Amino acid sequence: VSETQTHQSLEAWFRAHGARIRDELFEFLRIPSVSTQPDRRGDVARAAEWLEQAMQRVGLSAEVHPTAGHPVVLGEWRGAPPGAPTILVYGHYDVQPAEPLDLWHSPAFEPEVRDGRIYARGATDDKGQLFLHLKAIEALLALRGALPVNVIVLAEGEEETGSDHLADFIAAQAERLRCDAVVISDSTMFAPGMPALLSALRGIAGFEIFVDGPSGDLHSGTYGGAVVNPAMALARILATLHDENGRIAIPGFYDRVREWPAEWRRRIAELPFDDAGFRAEAGVRELGGEREFSVLERVWMRPTCEVNGLIGGYTGEGSKTVLPARASAKITCRLVPDQDPGEIARLFRAHLERVTPPGVQVRLDYRQGSPGWRADLPEWLLGAARRATRVTFGREPSIVADGGSLPVVTDFERLLGAPTLLLGFGLPGENAHAPNEWLLVDNFERGMLTIAILLDELREVTPA
Ligand SMILES: [Zn+2]
Repeated sequence: VSETQTHQSLEAWFRAHGARIRDELFEFLRIPSVSTQPDRRGDVARAAEWLEQAMQRVGLSAEVHPTAGHPVVLGEWRGAPPGAPTILVYGHYDVQPAEPLDLWHSPAFEPEVRDGRIYARGATDDKGQLFLHLKAIEALLALRGALPVNVIVLAEGEEETGSDHLADFIAAQAERLRCDAVVISDSTMFAPGMPALLSALRGIAGFEIFVDGPSGDLHSGTYGGAVVNPAMALARILATLHDENGRIAIPGFYDRVREWPAEWRRRIAELPFDDAGFRAEAGVRELGGEREFSVLERVWMRPTCEVNGLIGGYTGEGSKTVLPARASAKITCRLVPDQDPGEIARLFRAHLERVTPPGVQVRLDYRQGSPGWRADLPEWLLGAARRATRVTFGREPSIVADGGSLPVVTDFERLLGAPTLLLGFGLPGENAHAPNEWLLVDNFERGMLTIAILLDELREVTPA
């Protein structure tokens, strides 16, 4: 059977089963599996059971595994020929809250197709993108009675609450979950028609700075001019965090920043980036930051140090002539490989000791930290992804990154030692986490076909 015939028979199968597939997806989307809301606990459990049955219908053996939080659903098919790789598909069946409900044009948990888009909470993040993997598996099993590779599907119900119990689950089941690669569809393409491999994620280090001065709030008429004002001291400290070129001025901050491959930077430079659109979206006239880097490089591959909140003095209506006893700031740094959050905390503290003006005491609390990630994909995996999207989108995936964090990816690599391929079928602007979340019907359909071809392409390769 030629490759083209294989692709045509898959396409024909998806077409013939299109209506049923949509009905099933809508059933899944109707379950309000909001993991953050305690009163939705039963719905989250119902979604897990629904998924278990959906996996079984497809031809996987499947079970719901309870955790200390919401359950994990695990599906497996292990009948591939000897030497074939094992692919672990990860996704999440929990969703963000739908509130504010009155901003939805159709009810969040009553899926509706308008203008070629499926509107529902979870349509793209991540039920729709998880479900398309199941249907790709179903198509291959239906057409051939077997899969080209062994498959494990791991679906969690706590992604939107921080995947609190996932790392423990993976560690406990590491033997069973052993695989040659992890494939995740929980991200977006670069633009319509431009599939993308999410190749880097930034980590984070979160802090709170407290600047303490007098033992209590003082009258600014009686003490002002002689006592150091903690709010002013905090402002001076914050002003030392960057130089005039937008570079972070904490000594040593960039010491471990790993260079990006020249090839990646070249490919990022070729992406059609809409500078005016980016500024319009942000609502600013001019951009800042490190000018020697492009905007995409600034948000994807460079670390940051941002003030997220400032607290101090009188903030009520009118004025109050107070010299505050304390001022504080909440700060997060986005980190890139190989920066270590704990080391960044130490460098930050050492910097504060140098720049704190006399007359106040400074304390830095280190709240949270997770490292950044960059894909290091072996050729057998990367090549298969390229060949798959060439068939379905007529082009190879772009190299993209996300300035945010996705700790599960580092967990998979750390605990299973498997490379992670992040190939998403969402689009920027589809309101994940916001009212009127949507997924393009066309991308859902191309996604099913892409994943089916990807699994097929992985059959030939025996990973080292
Ligand atoms: Zn997601």
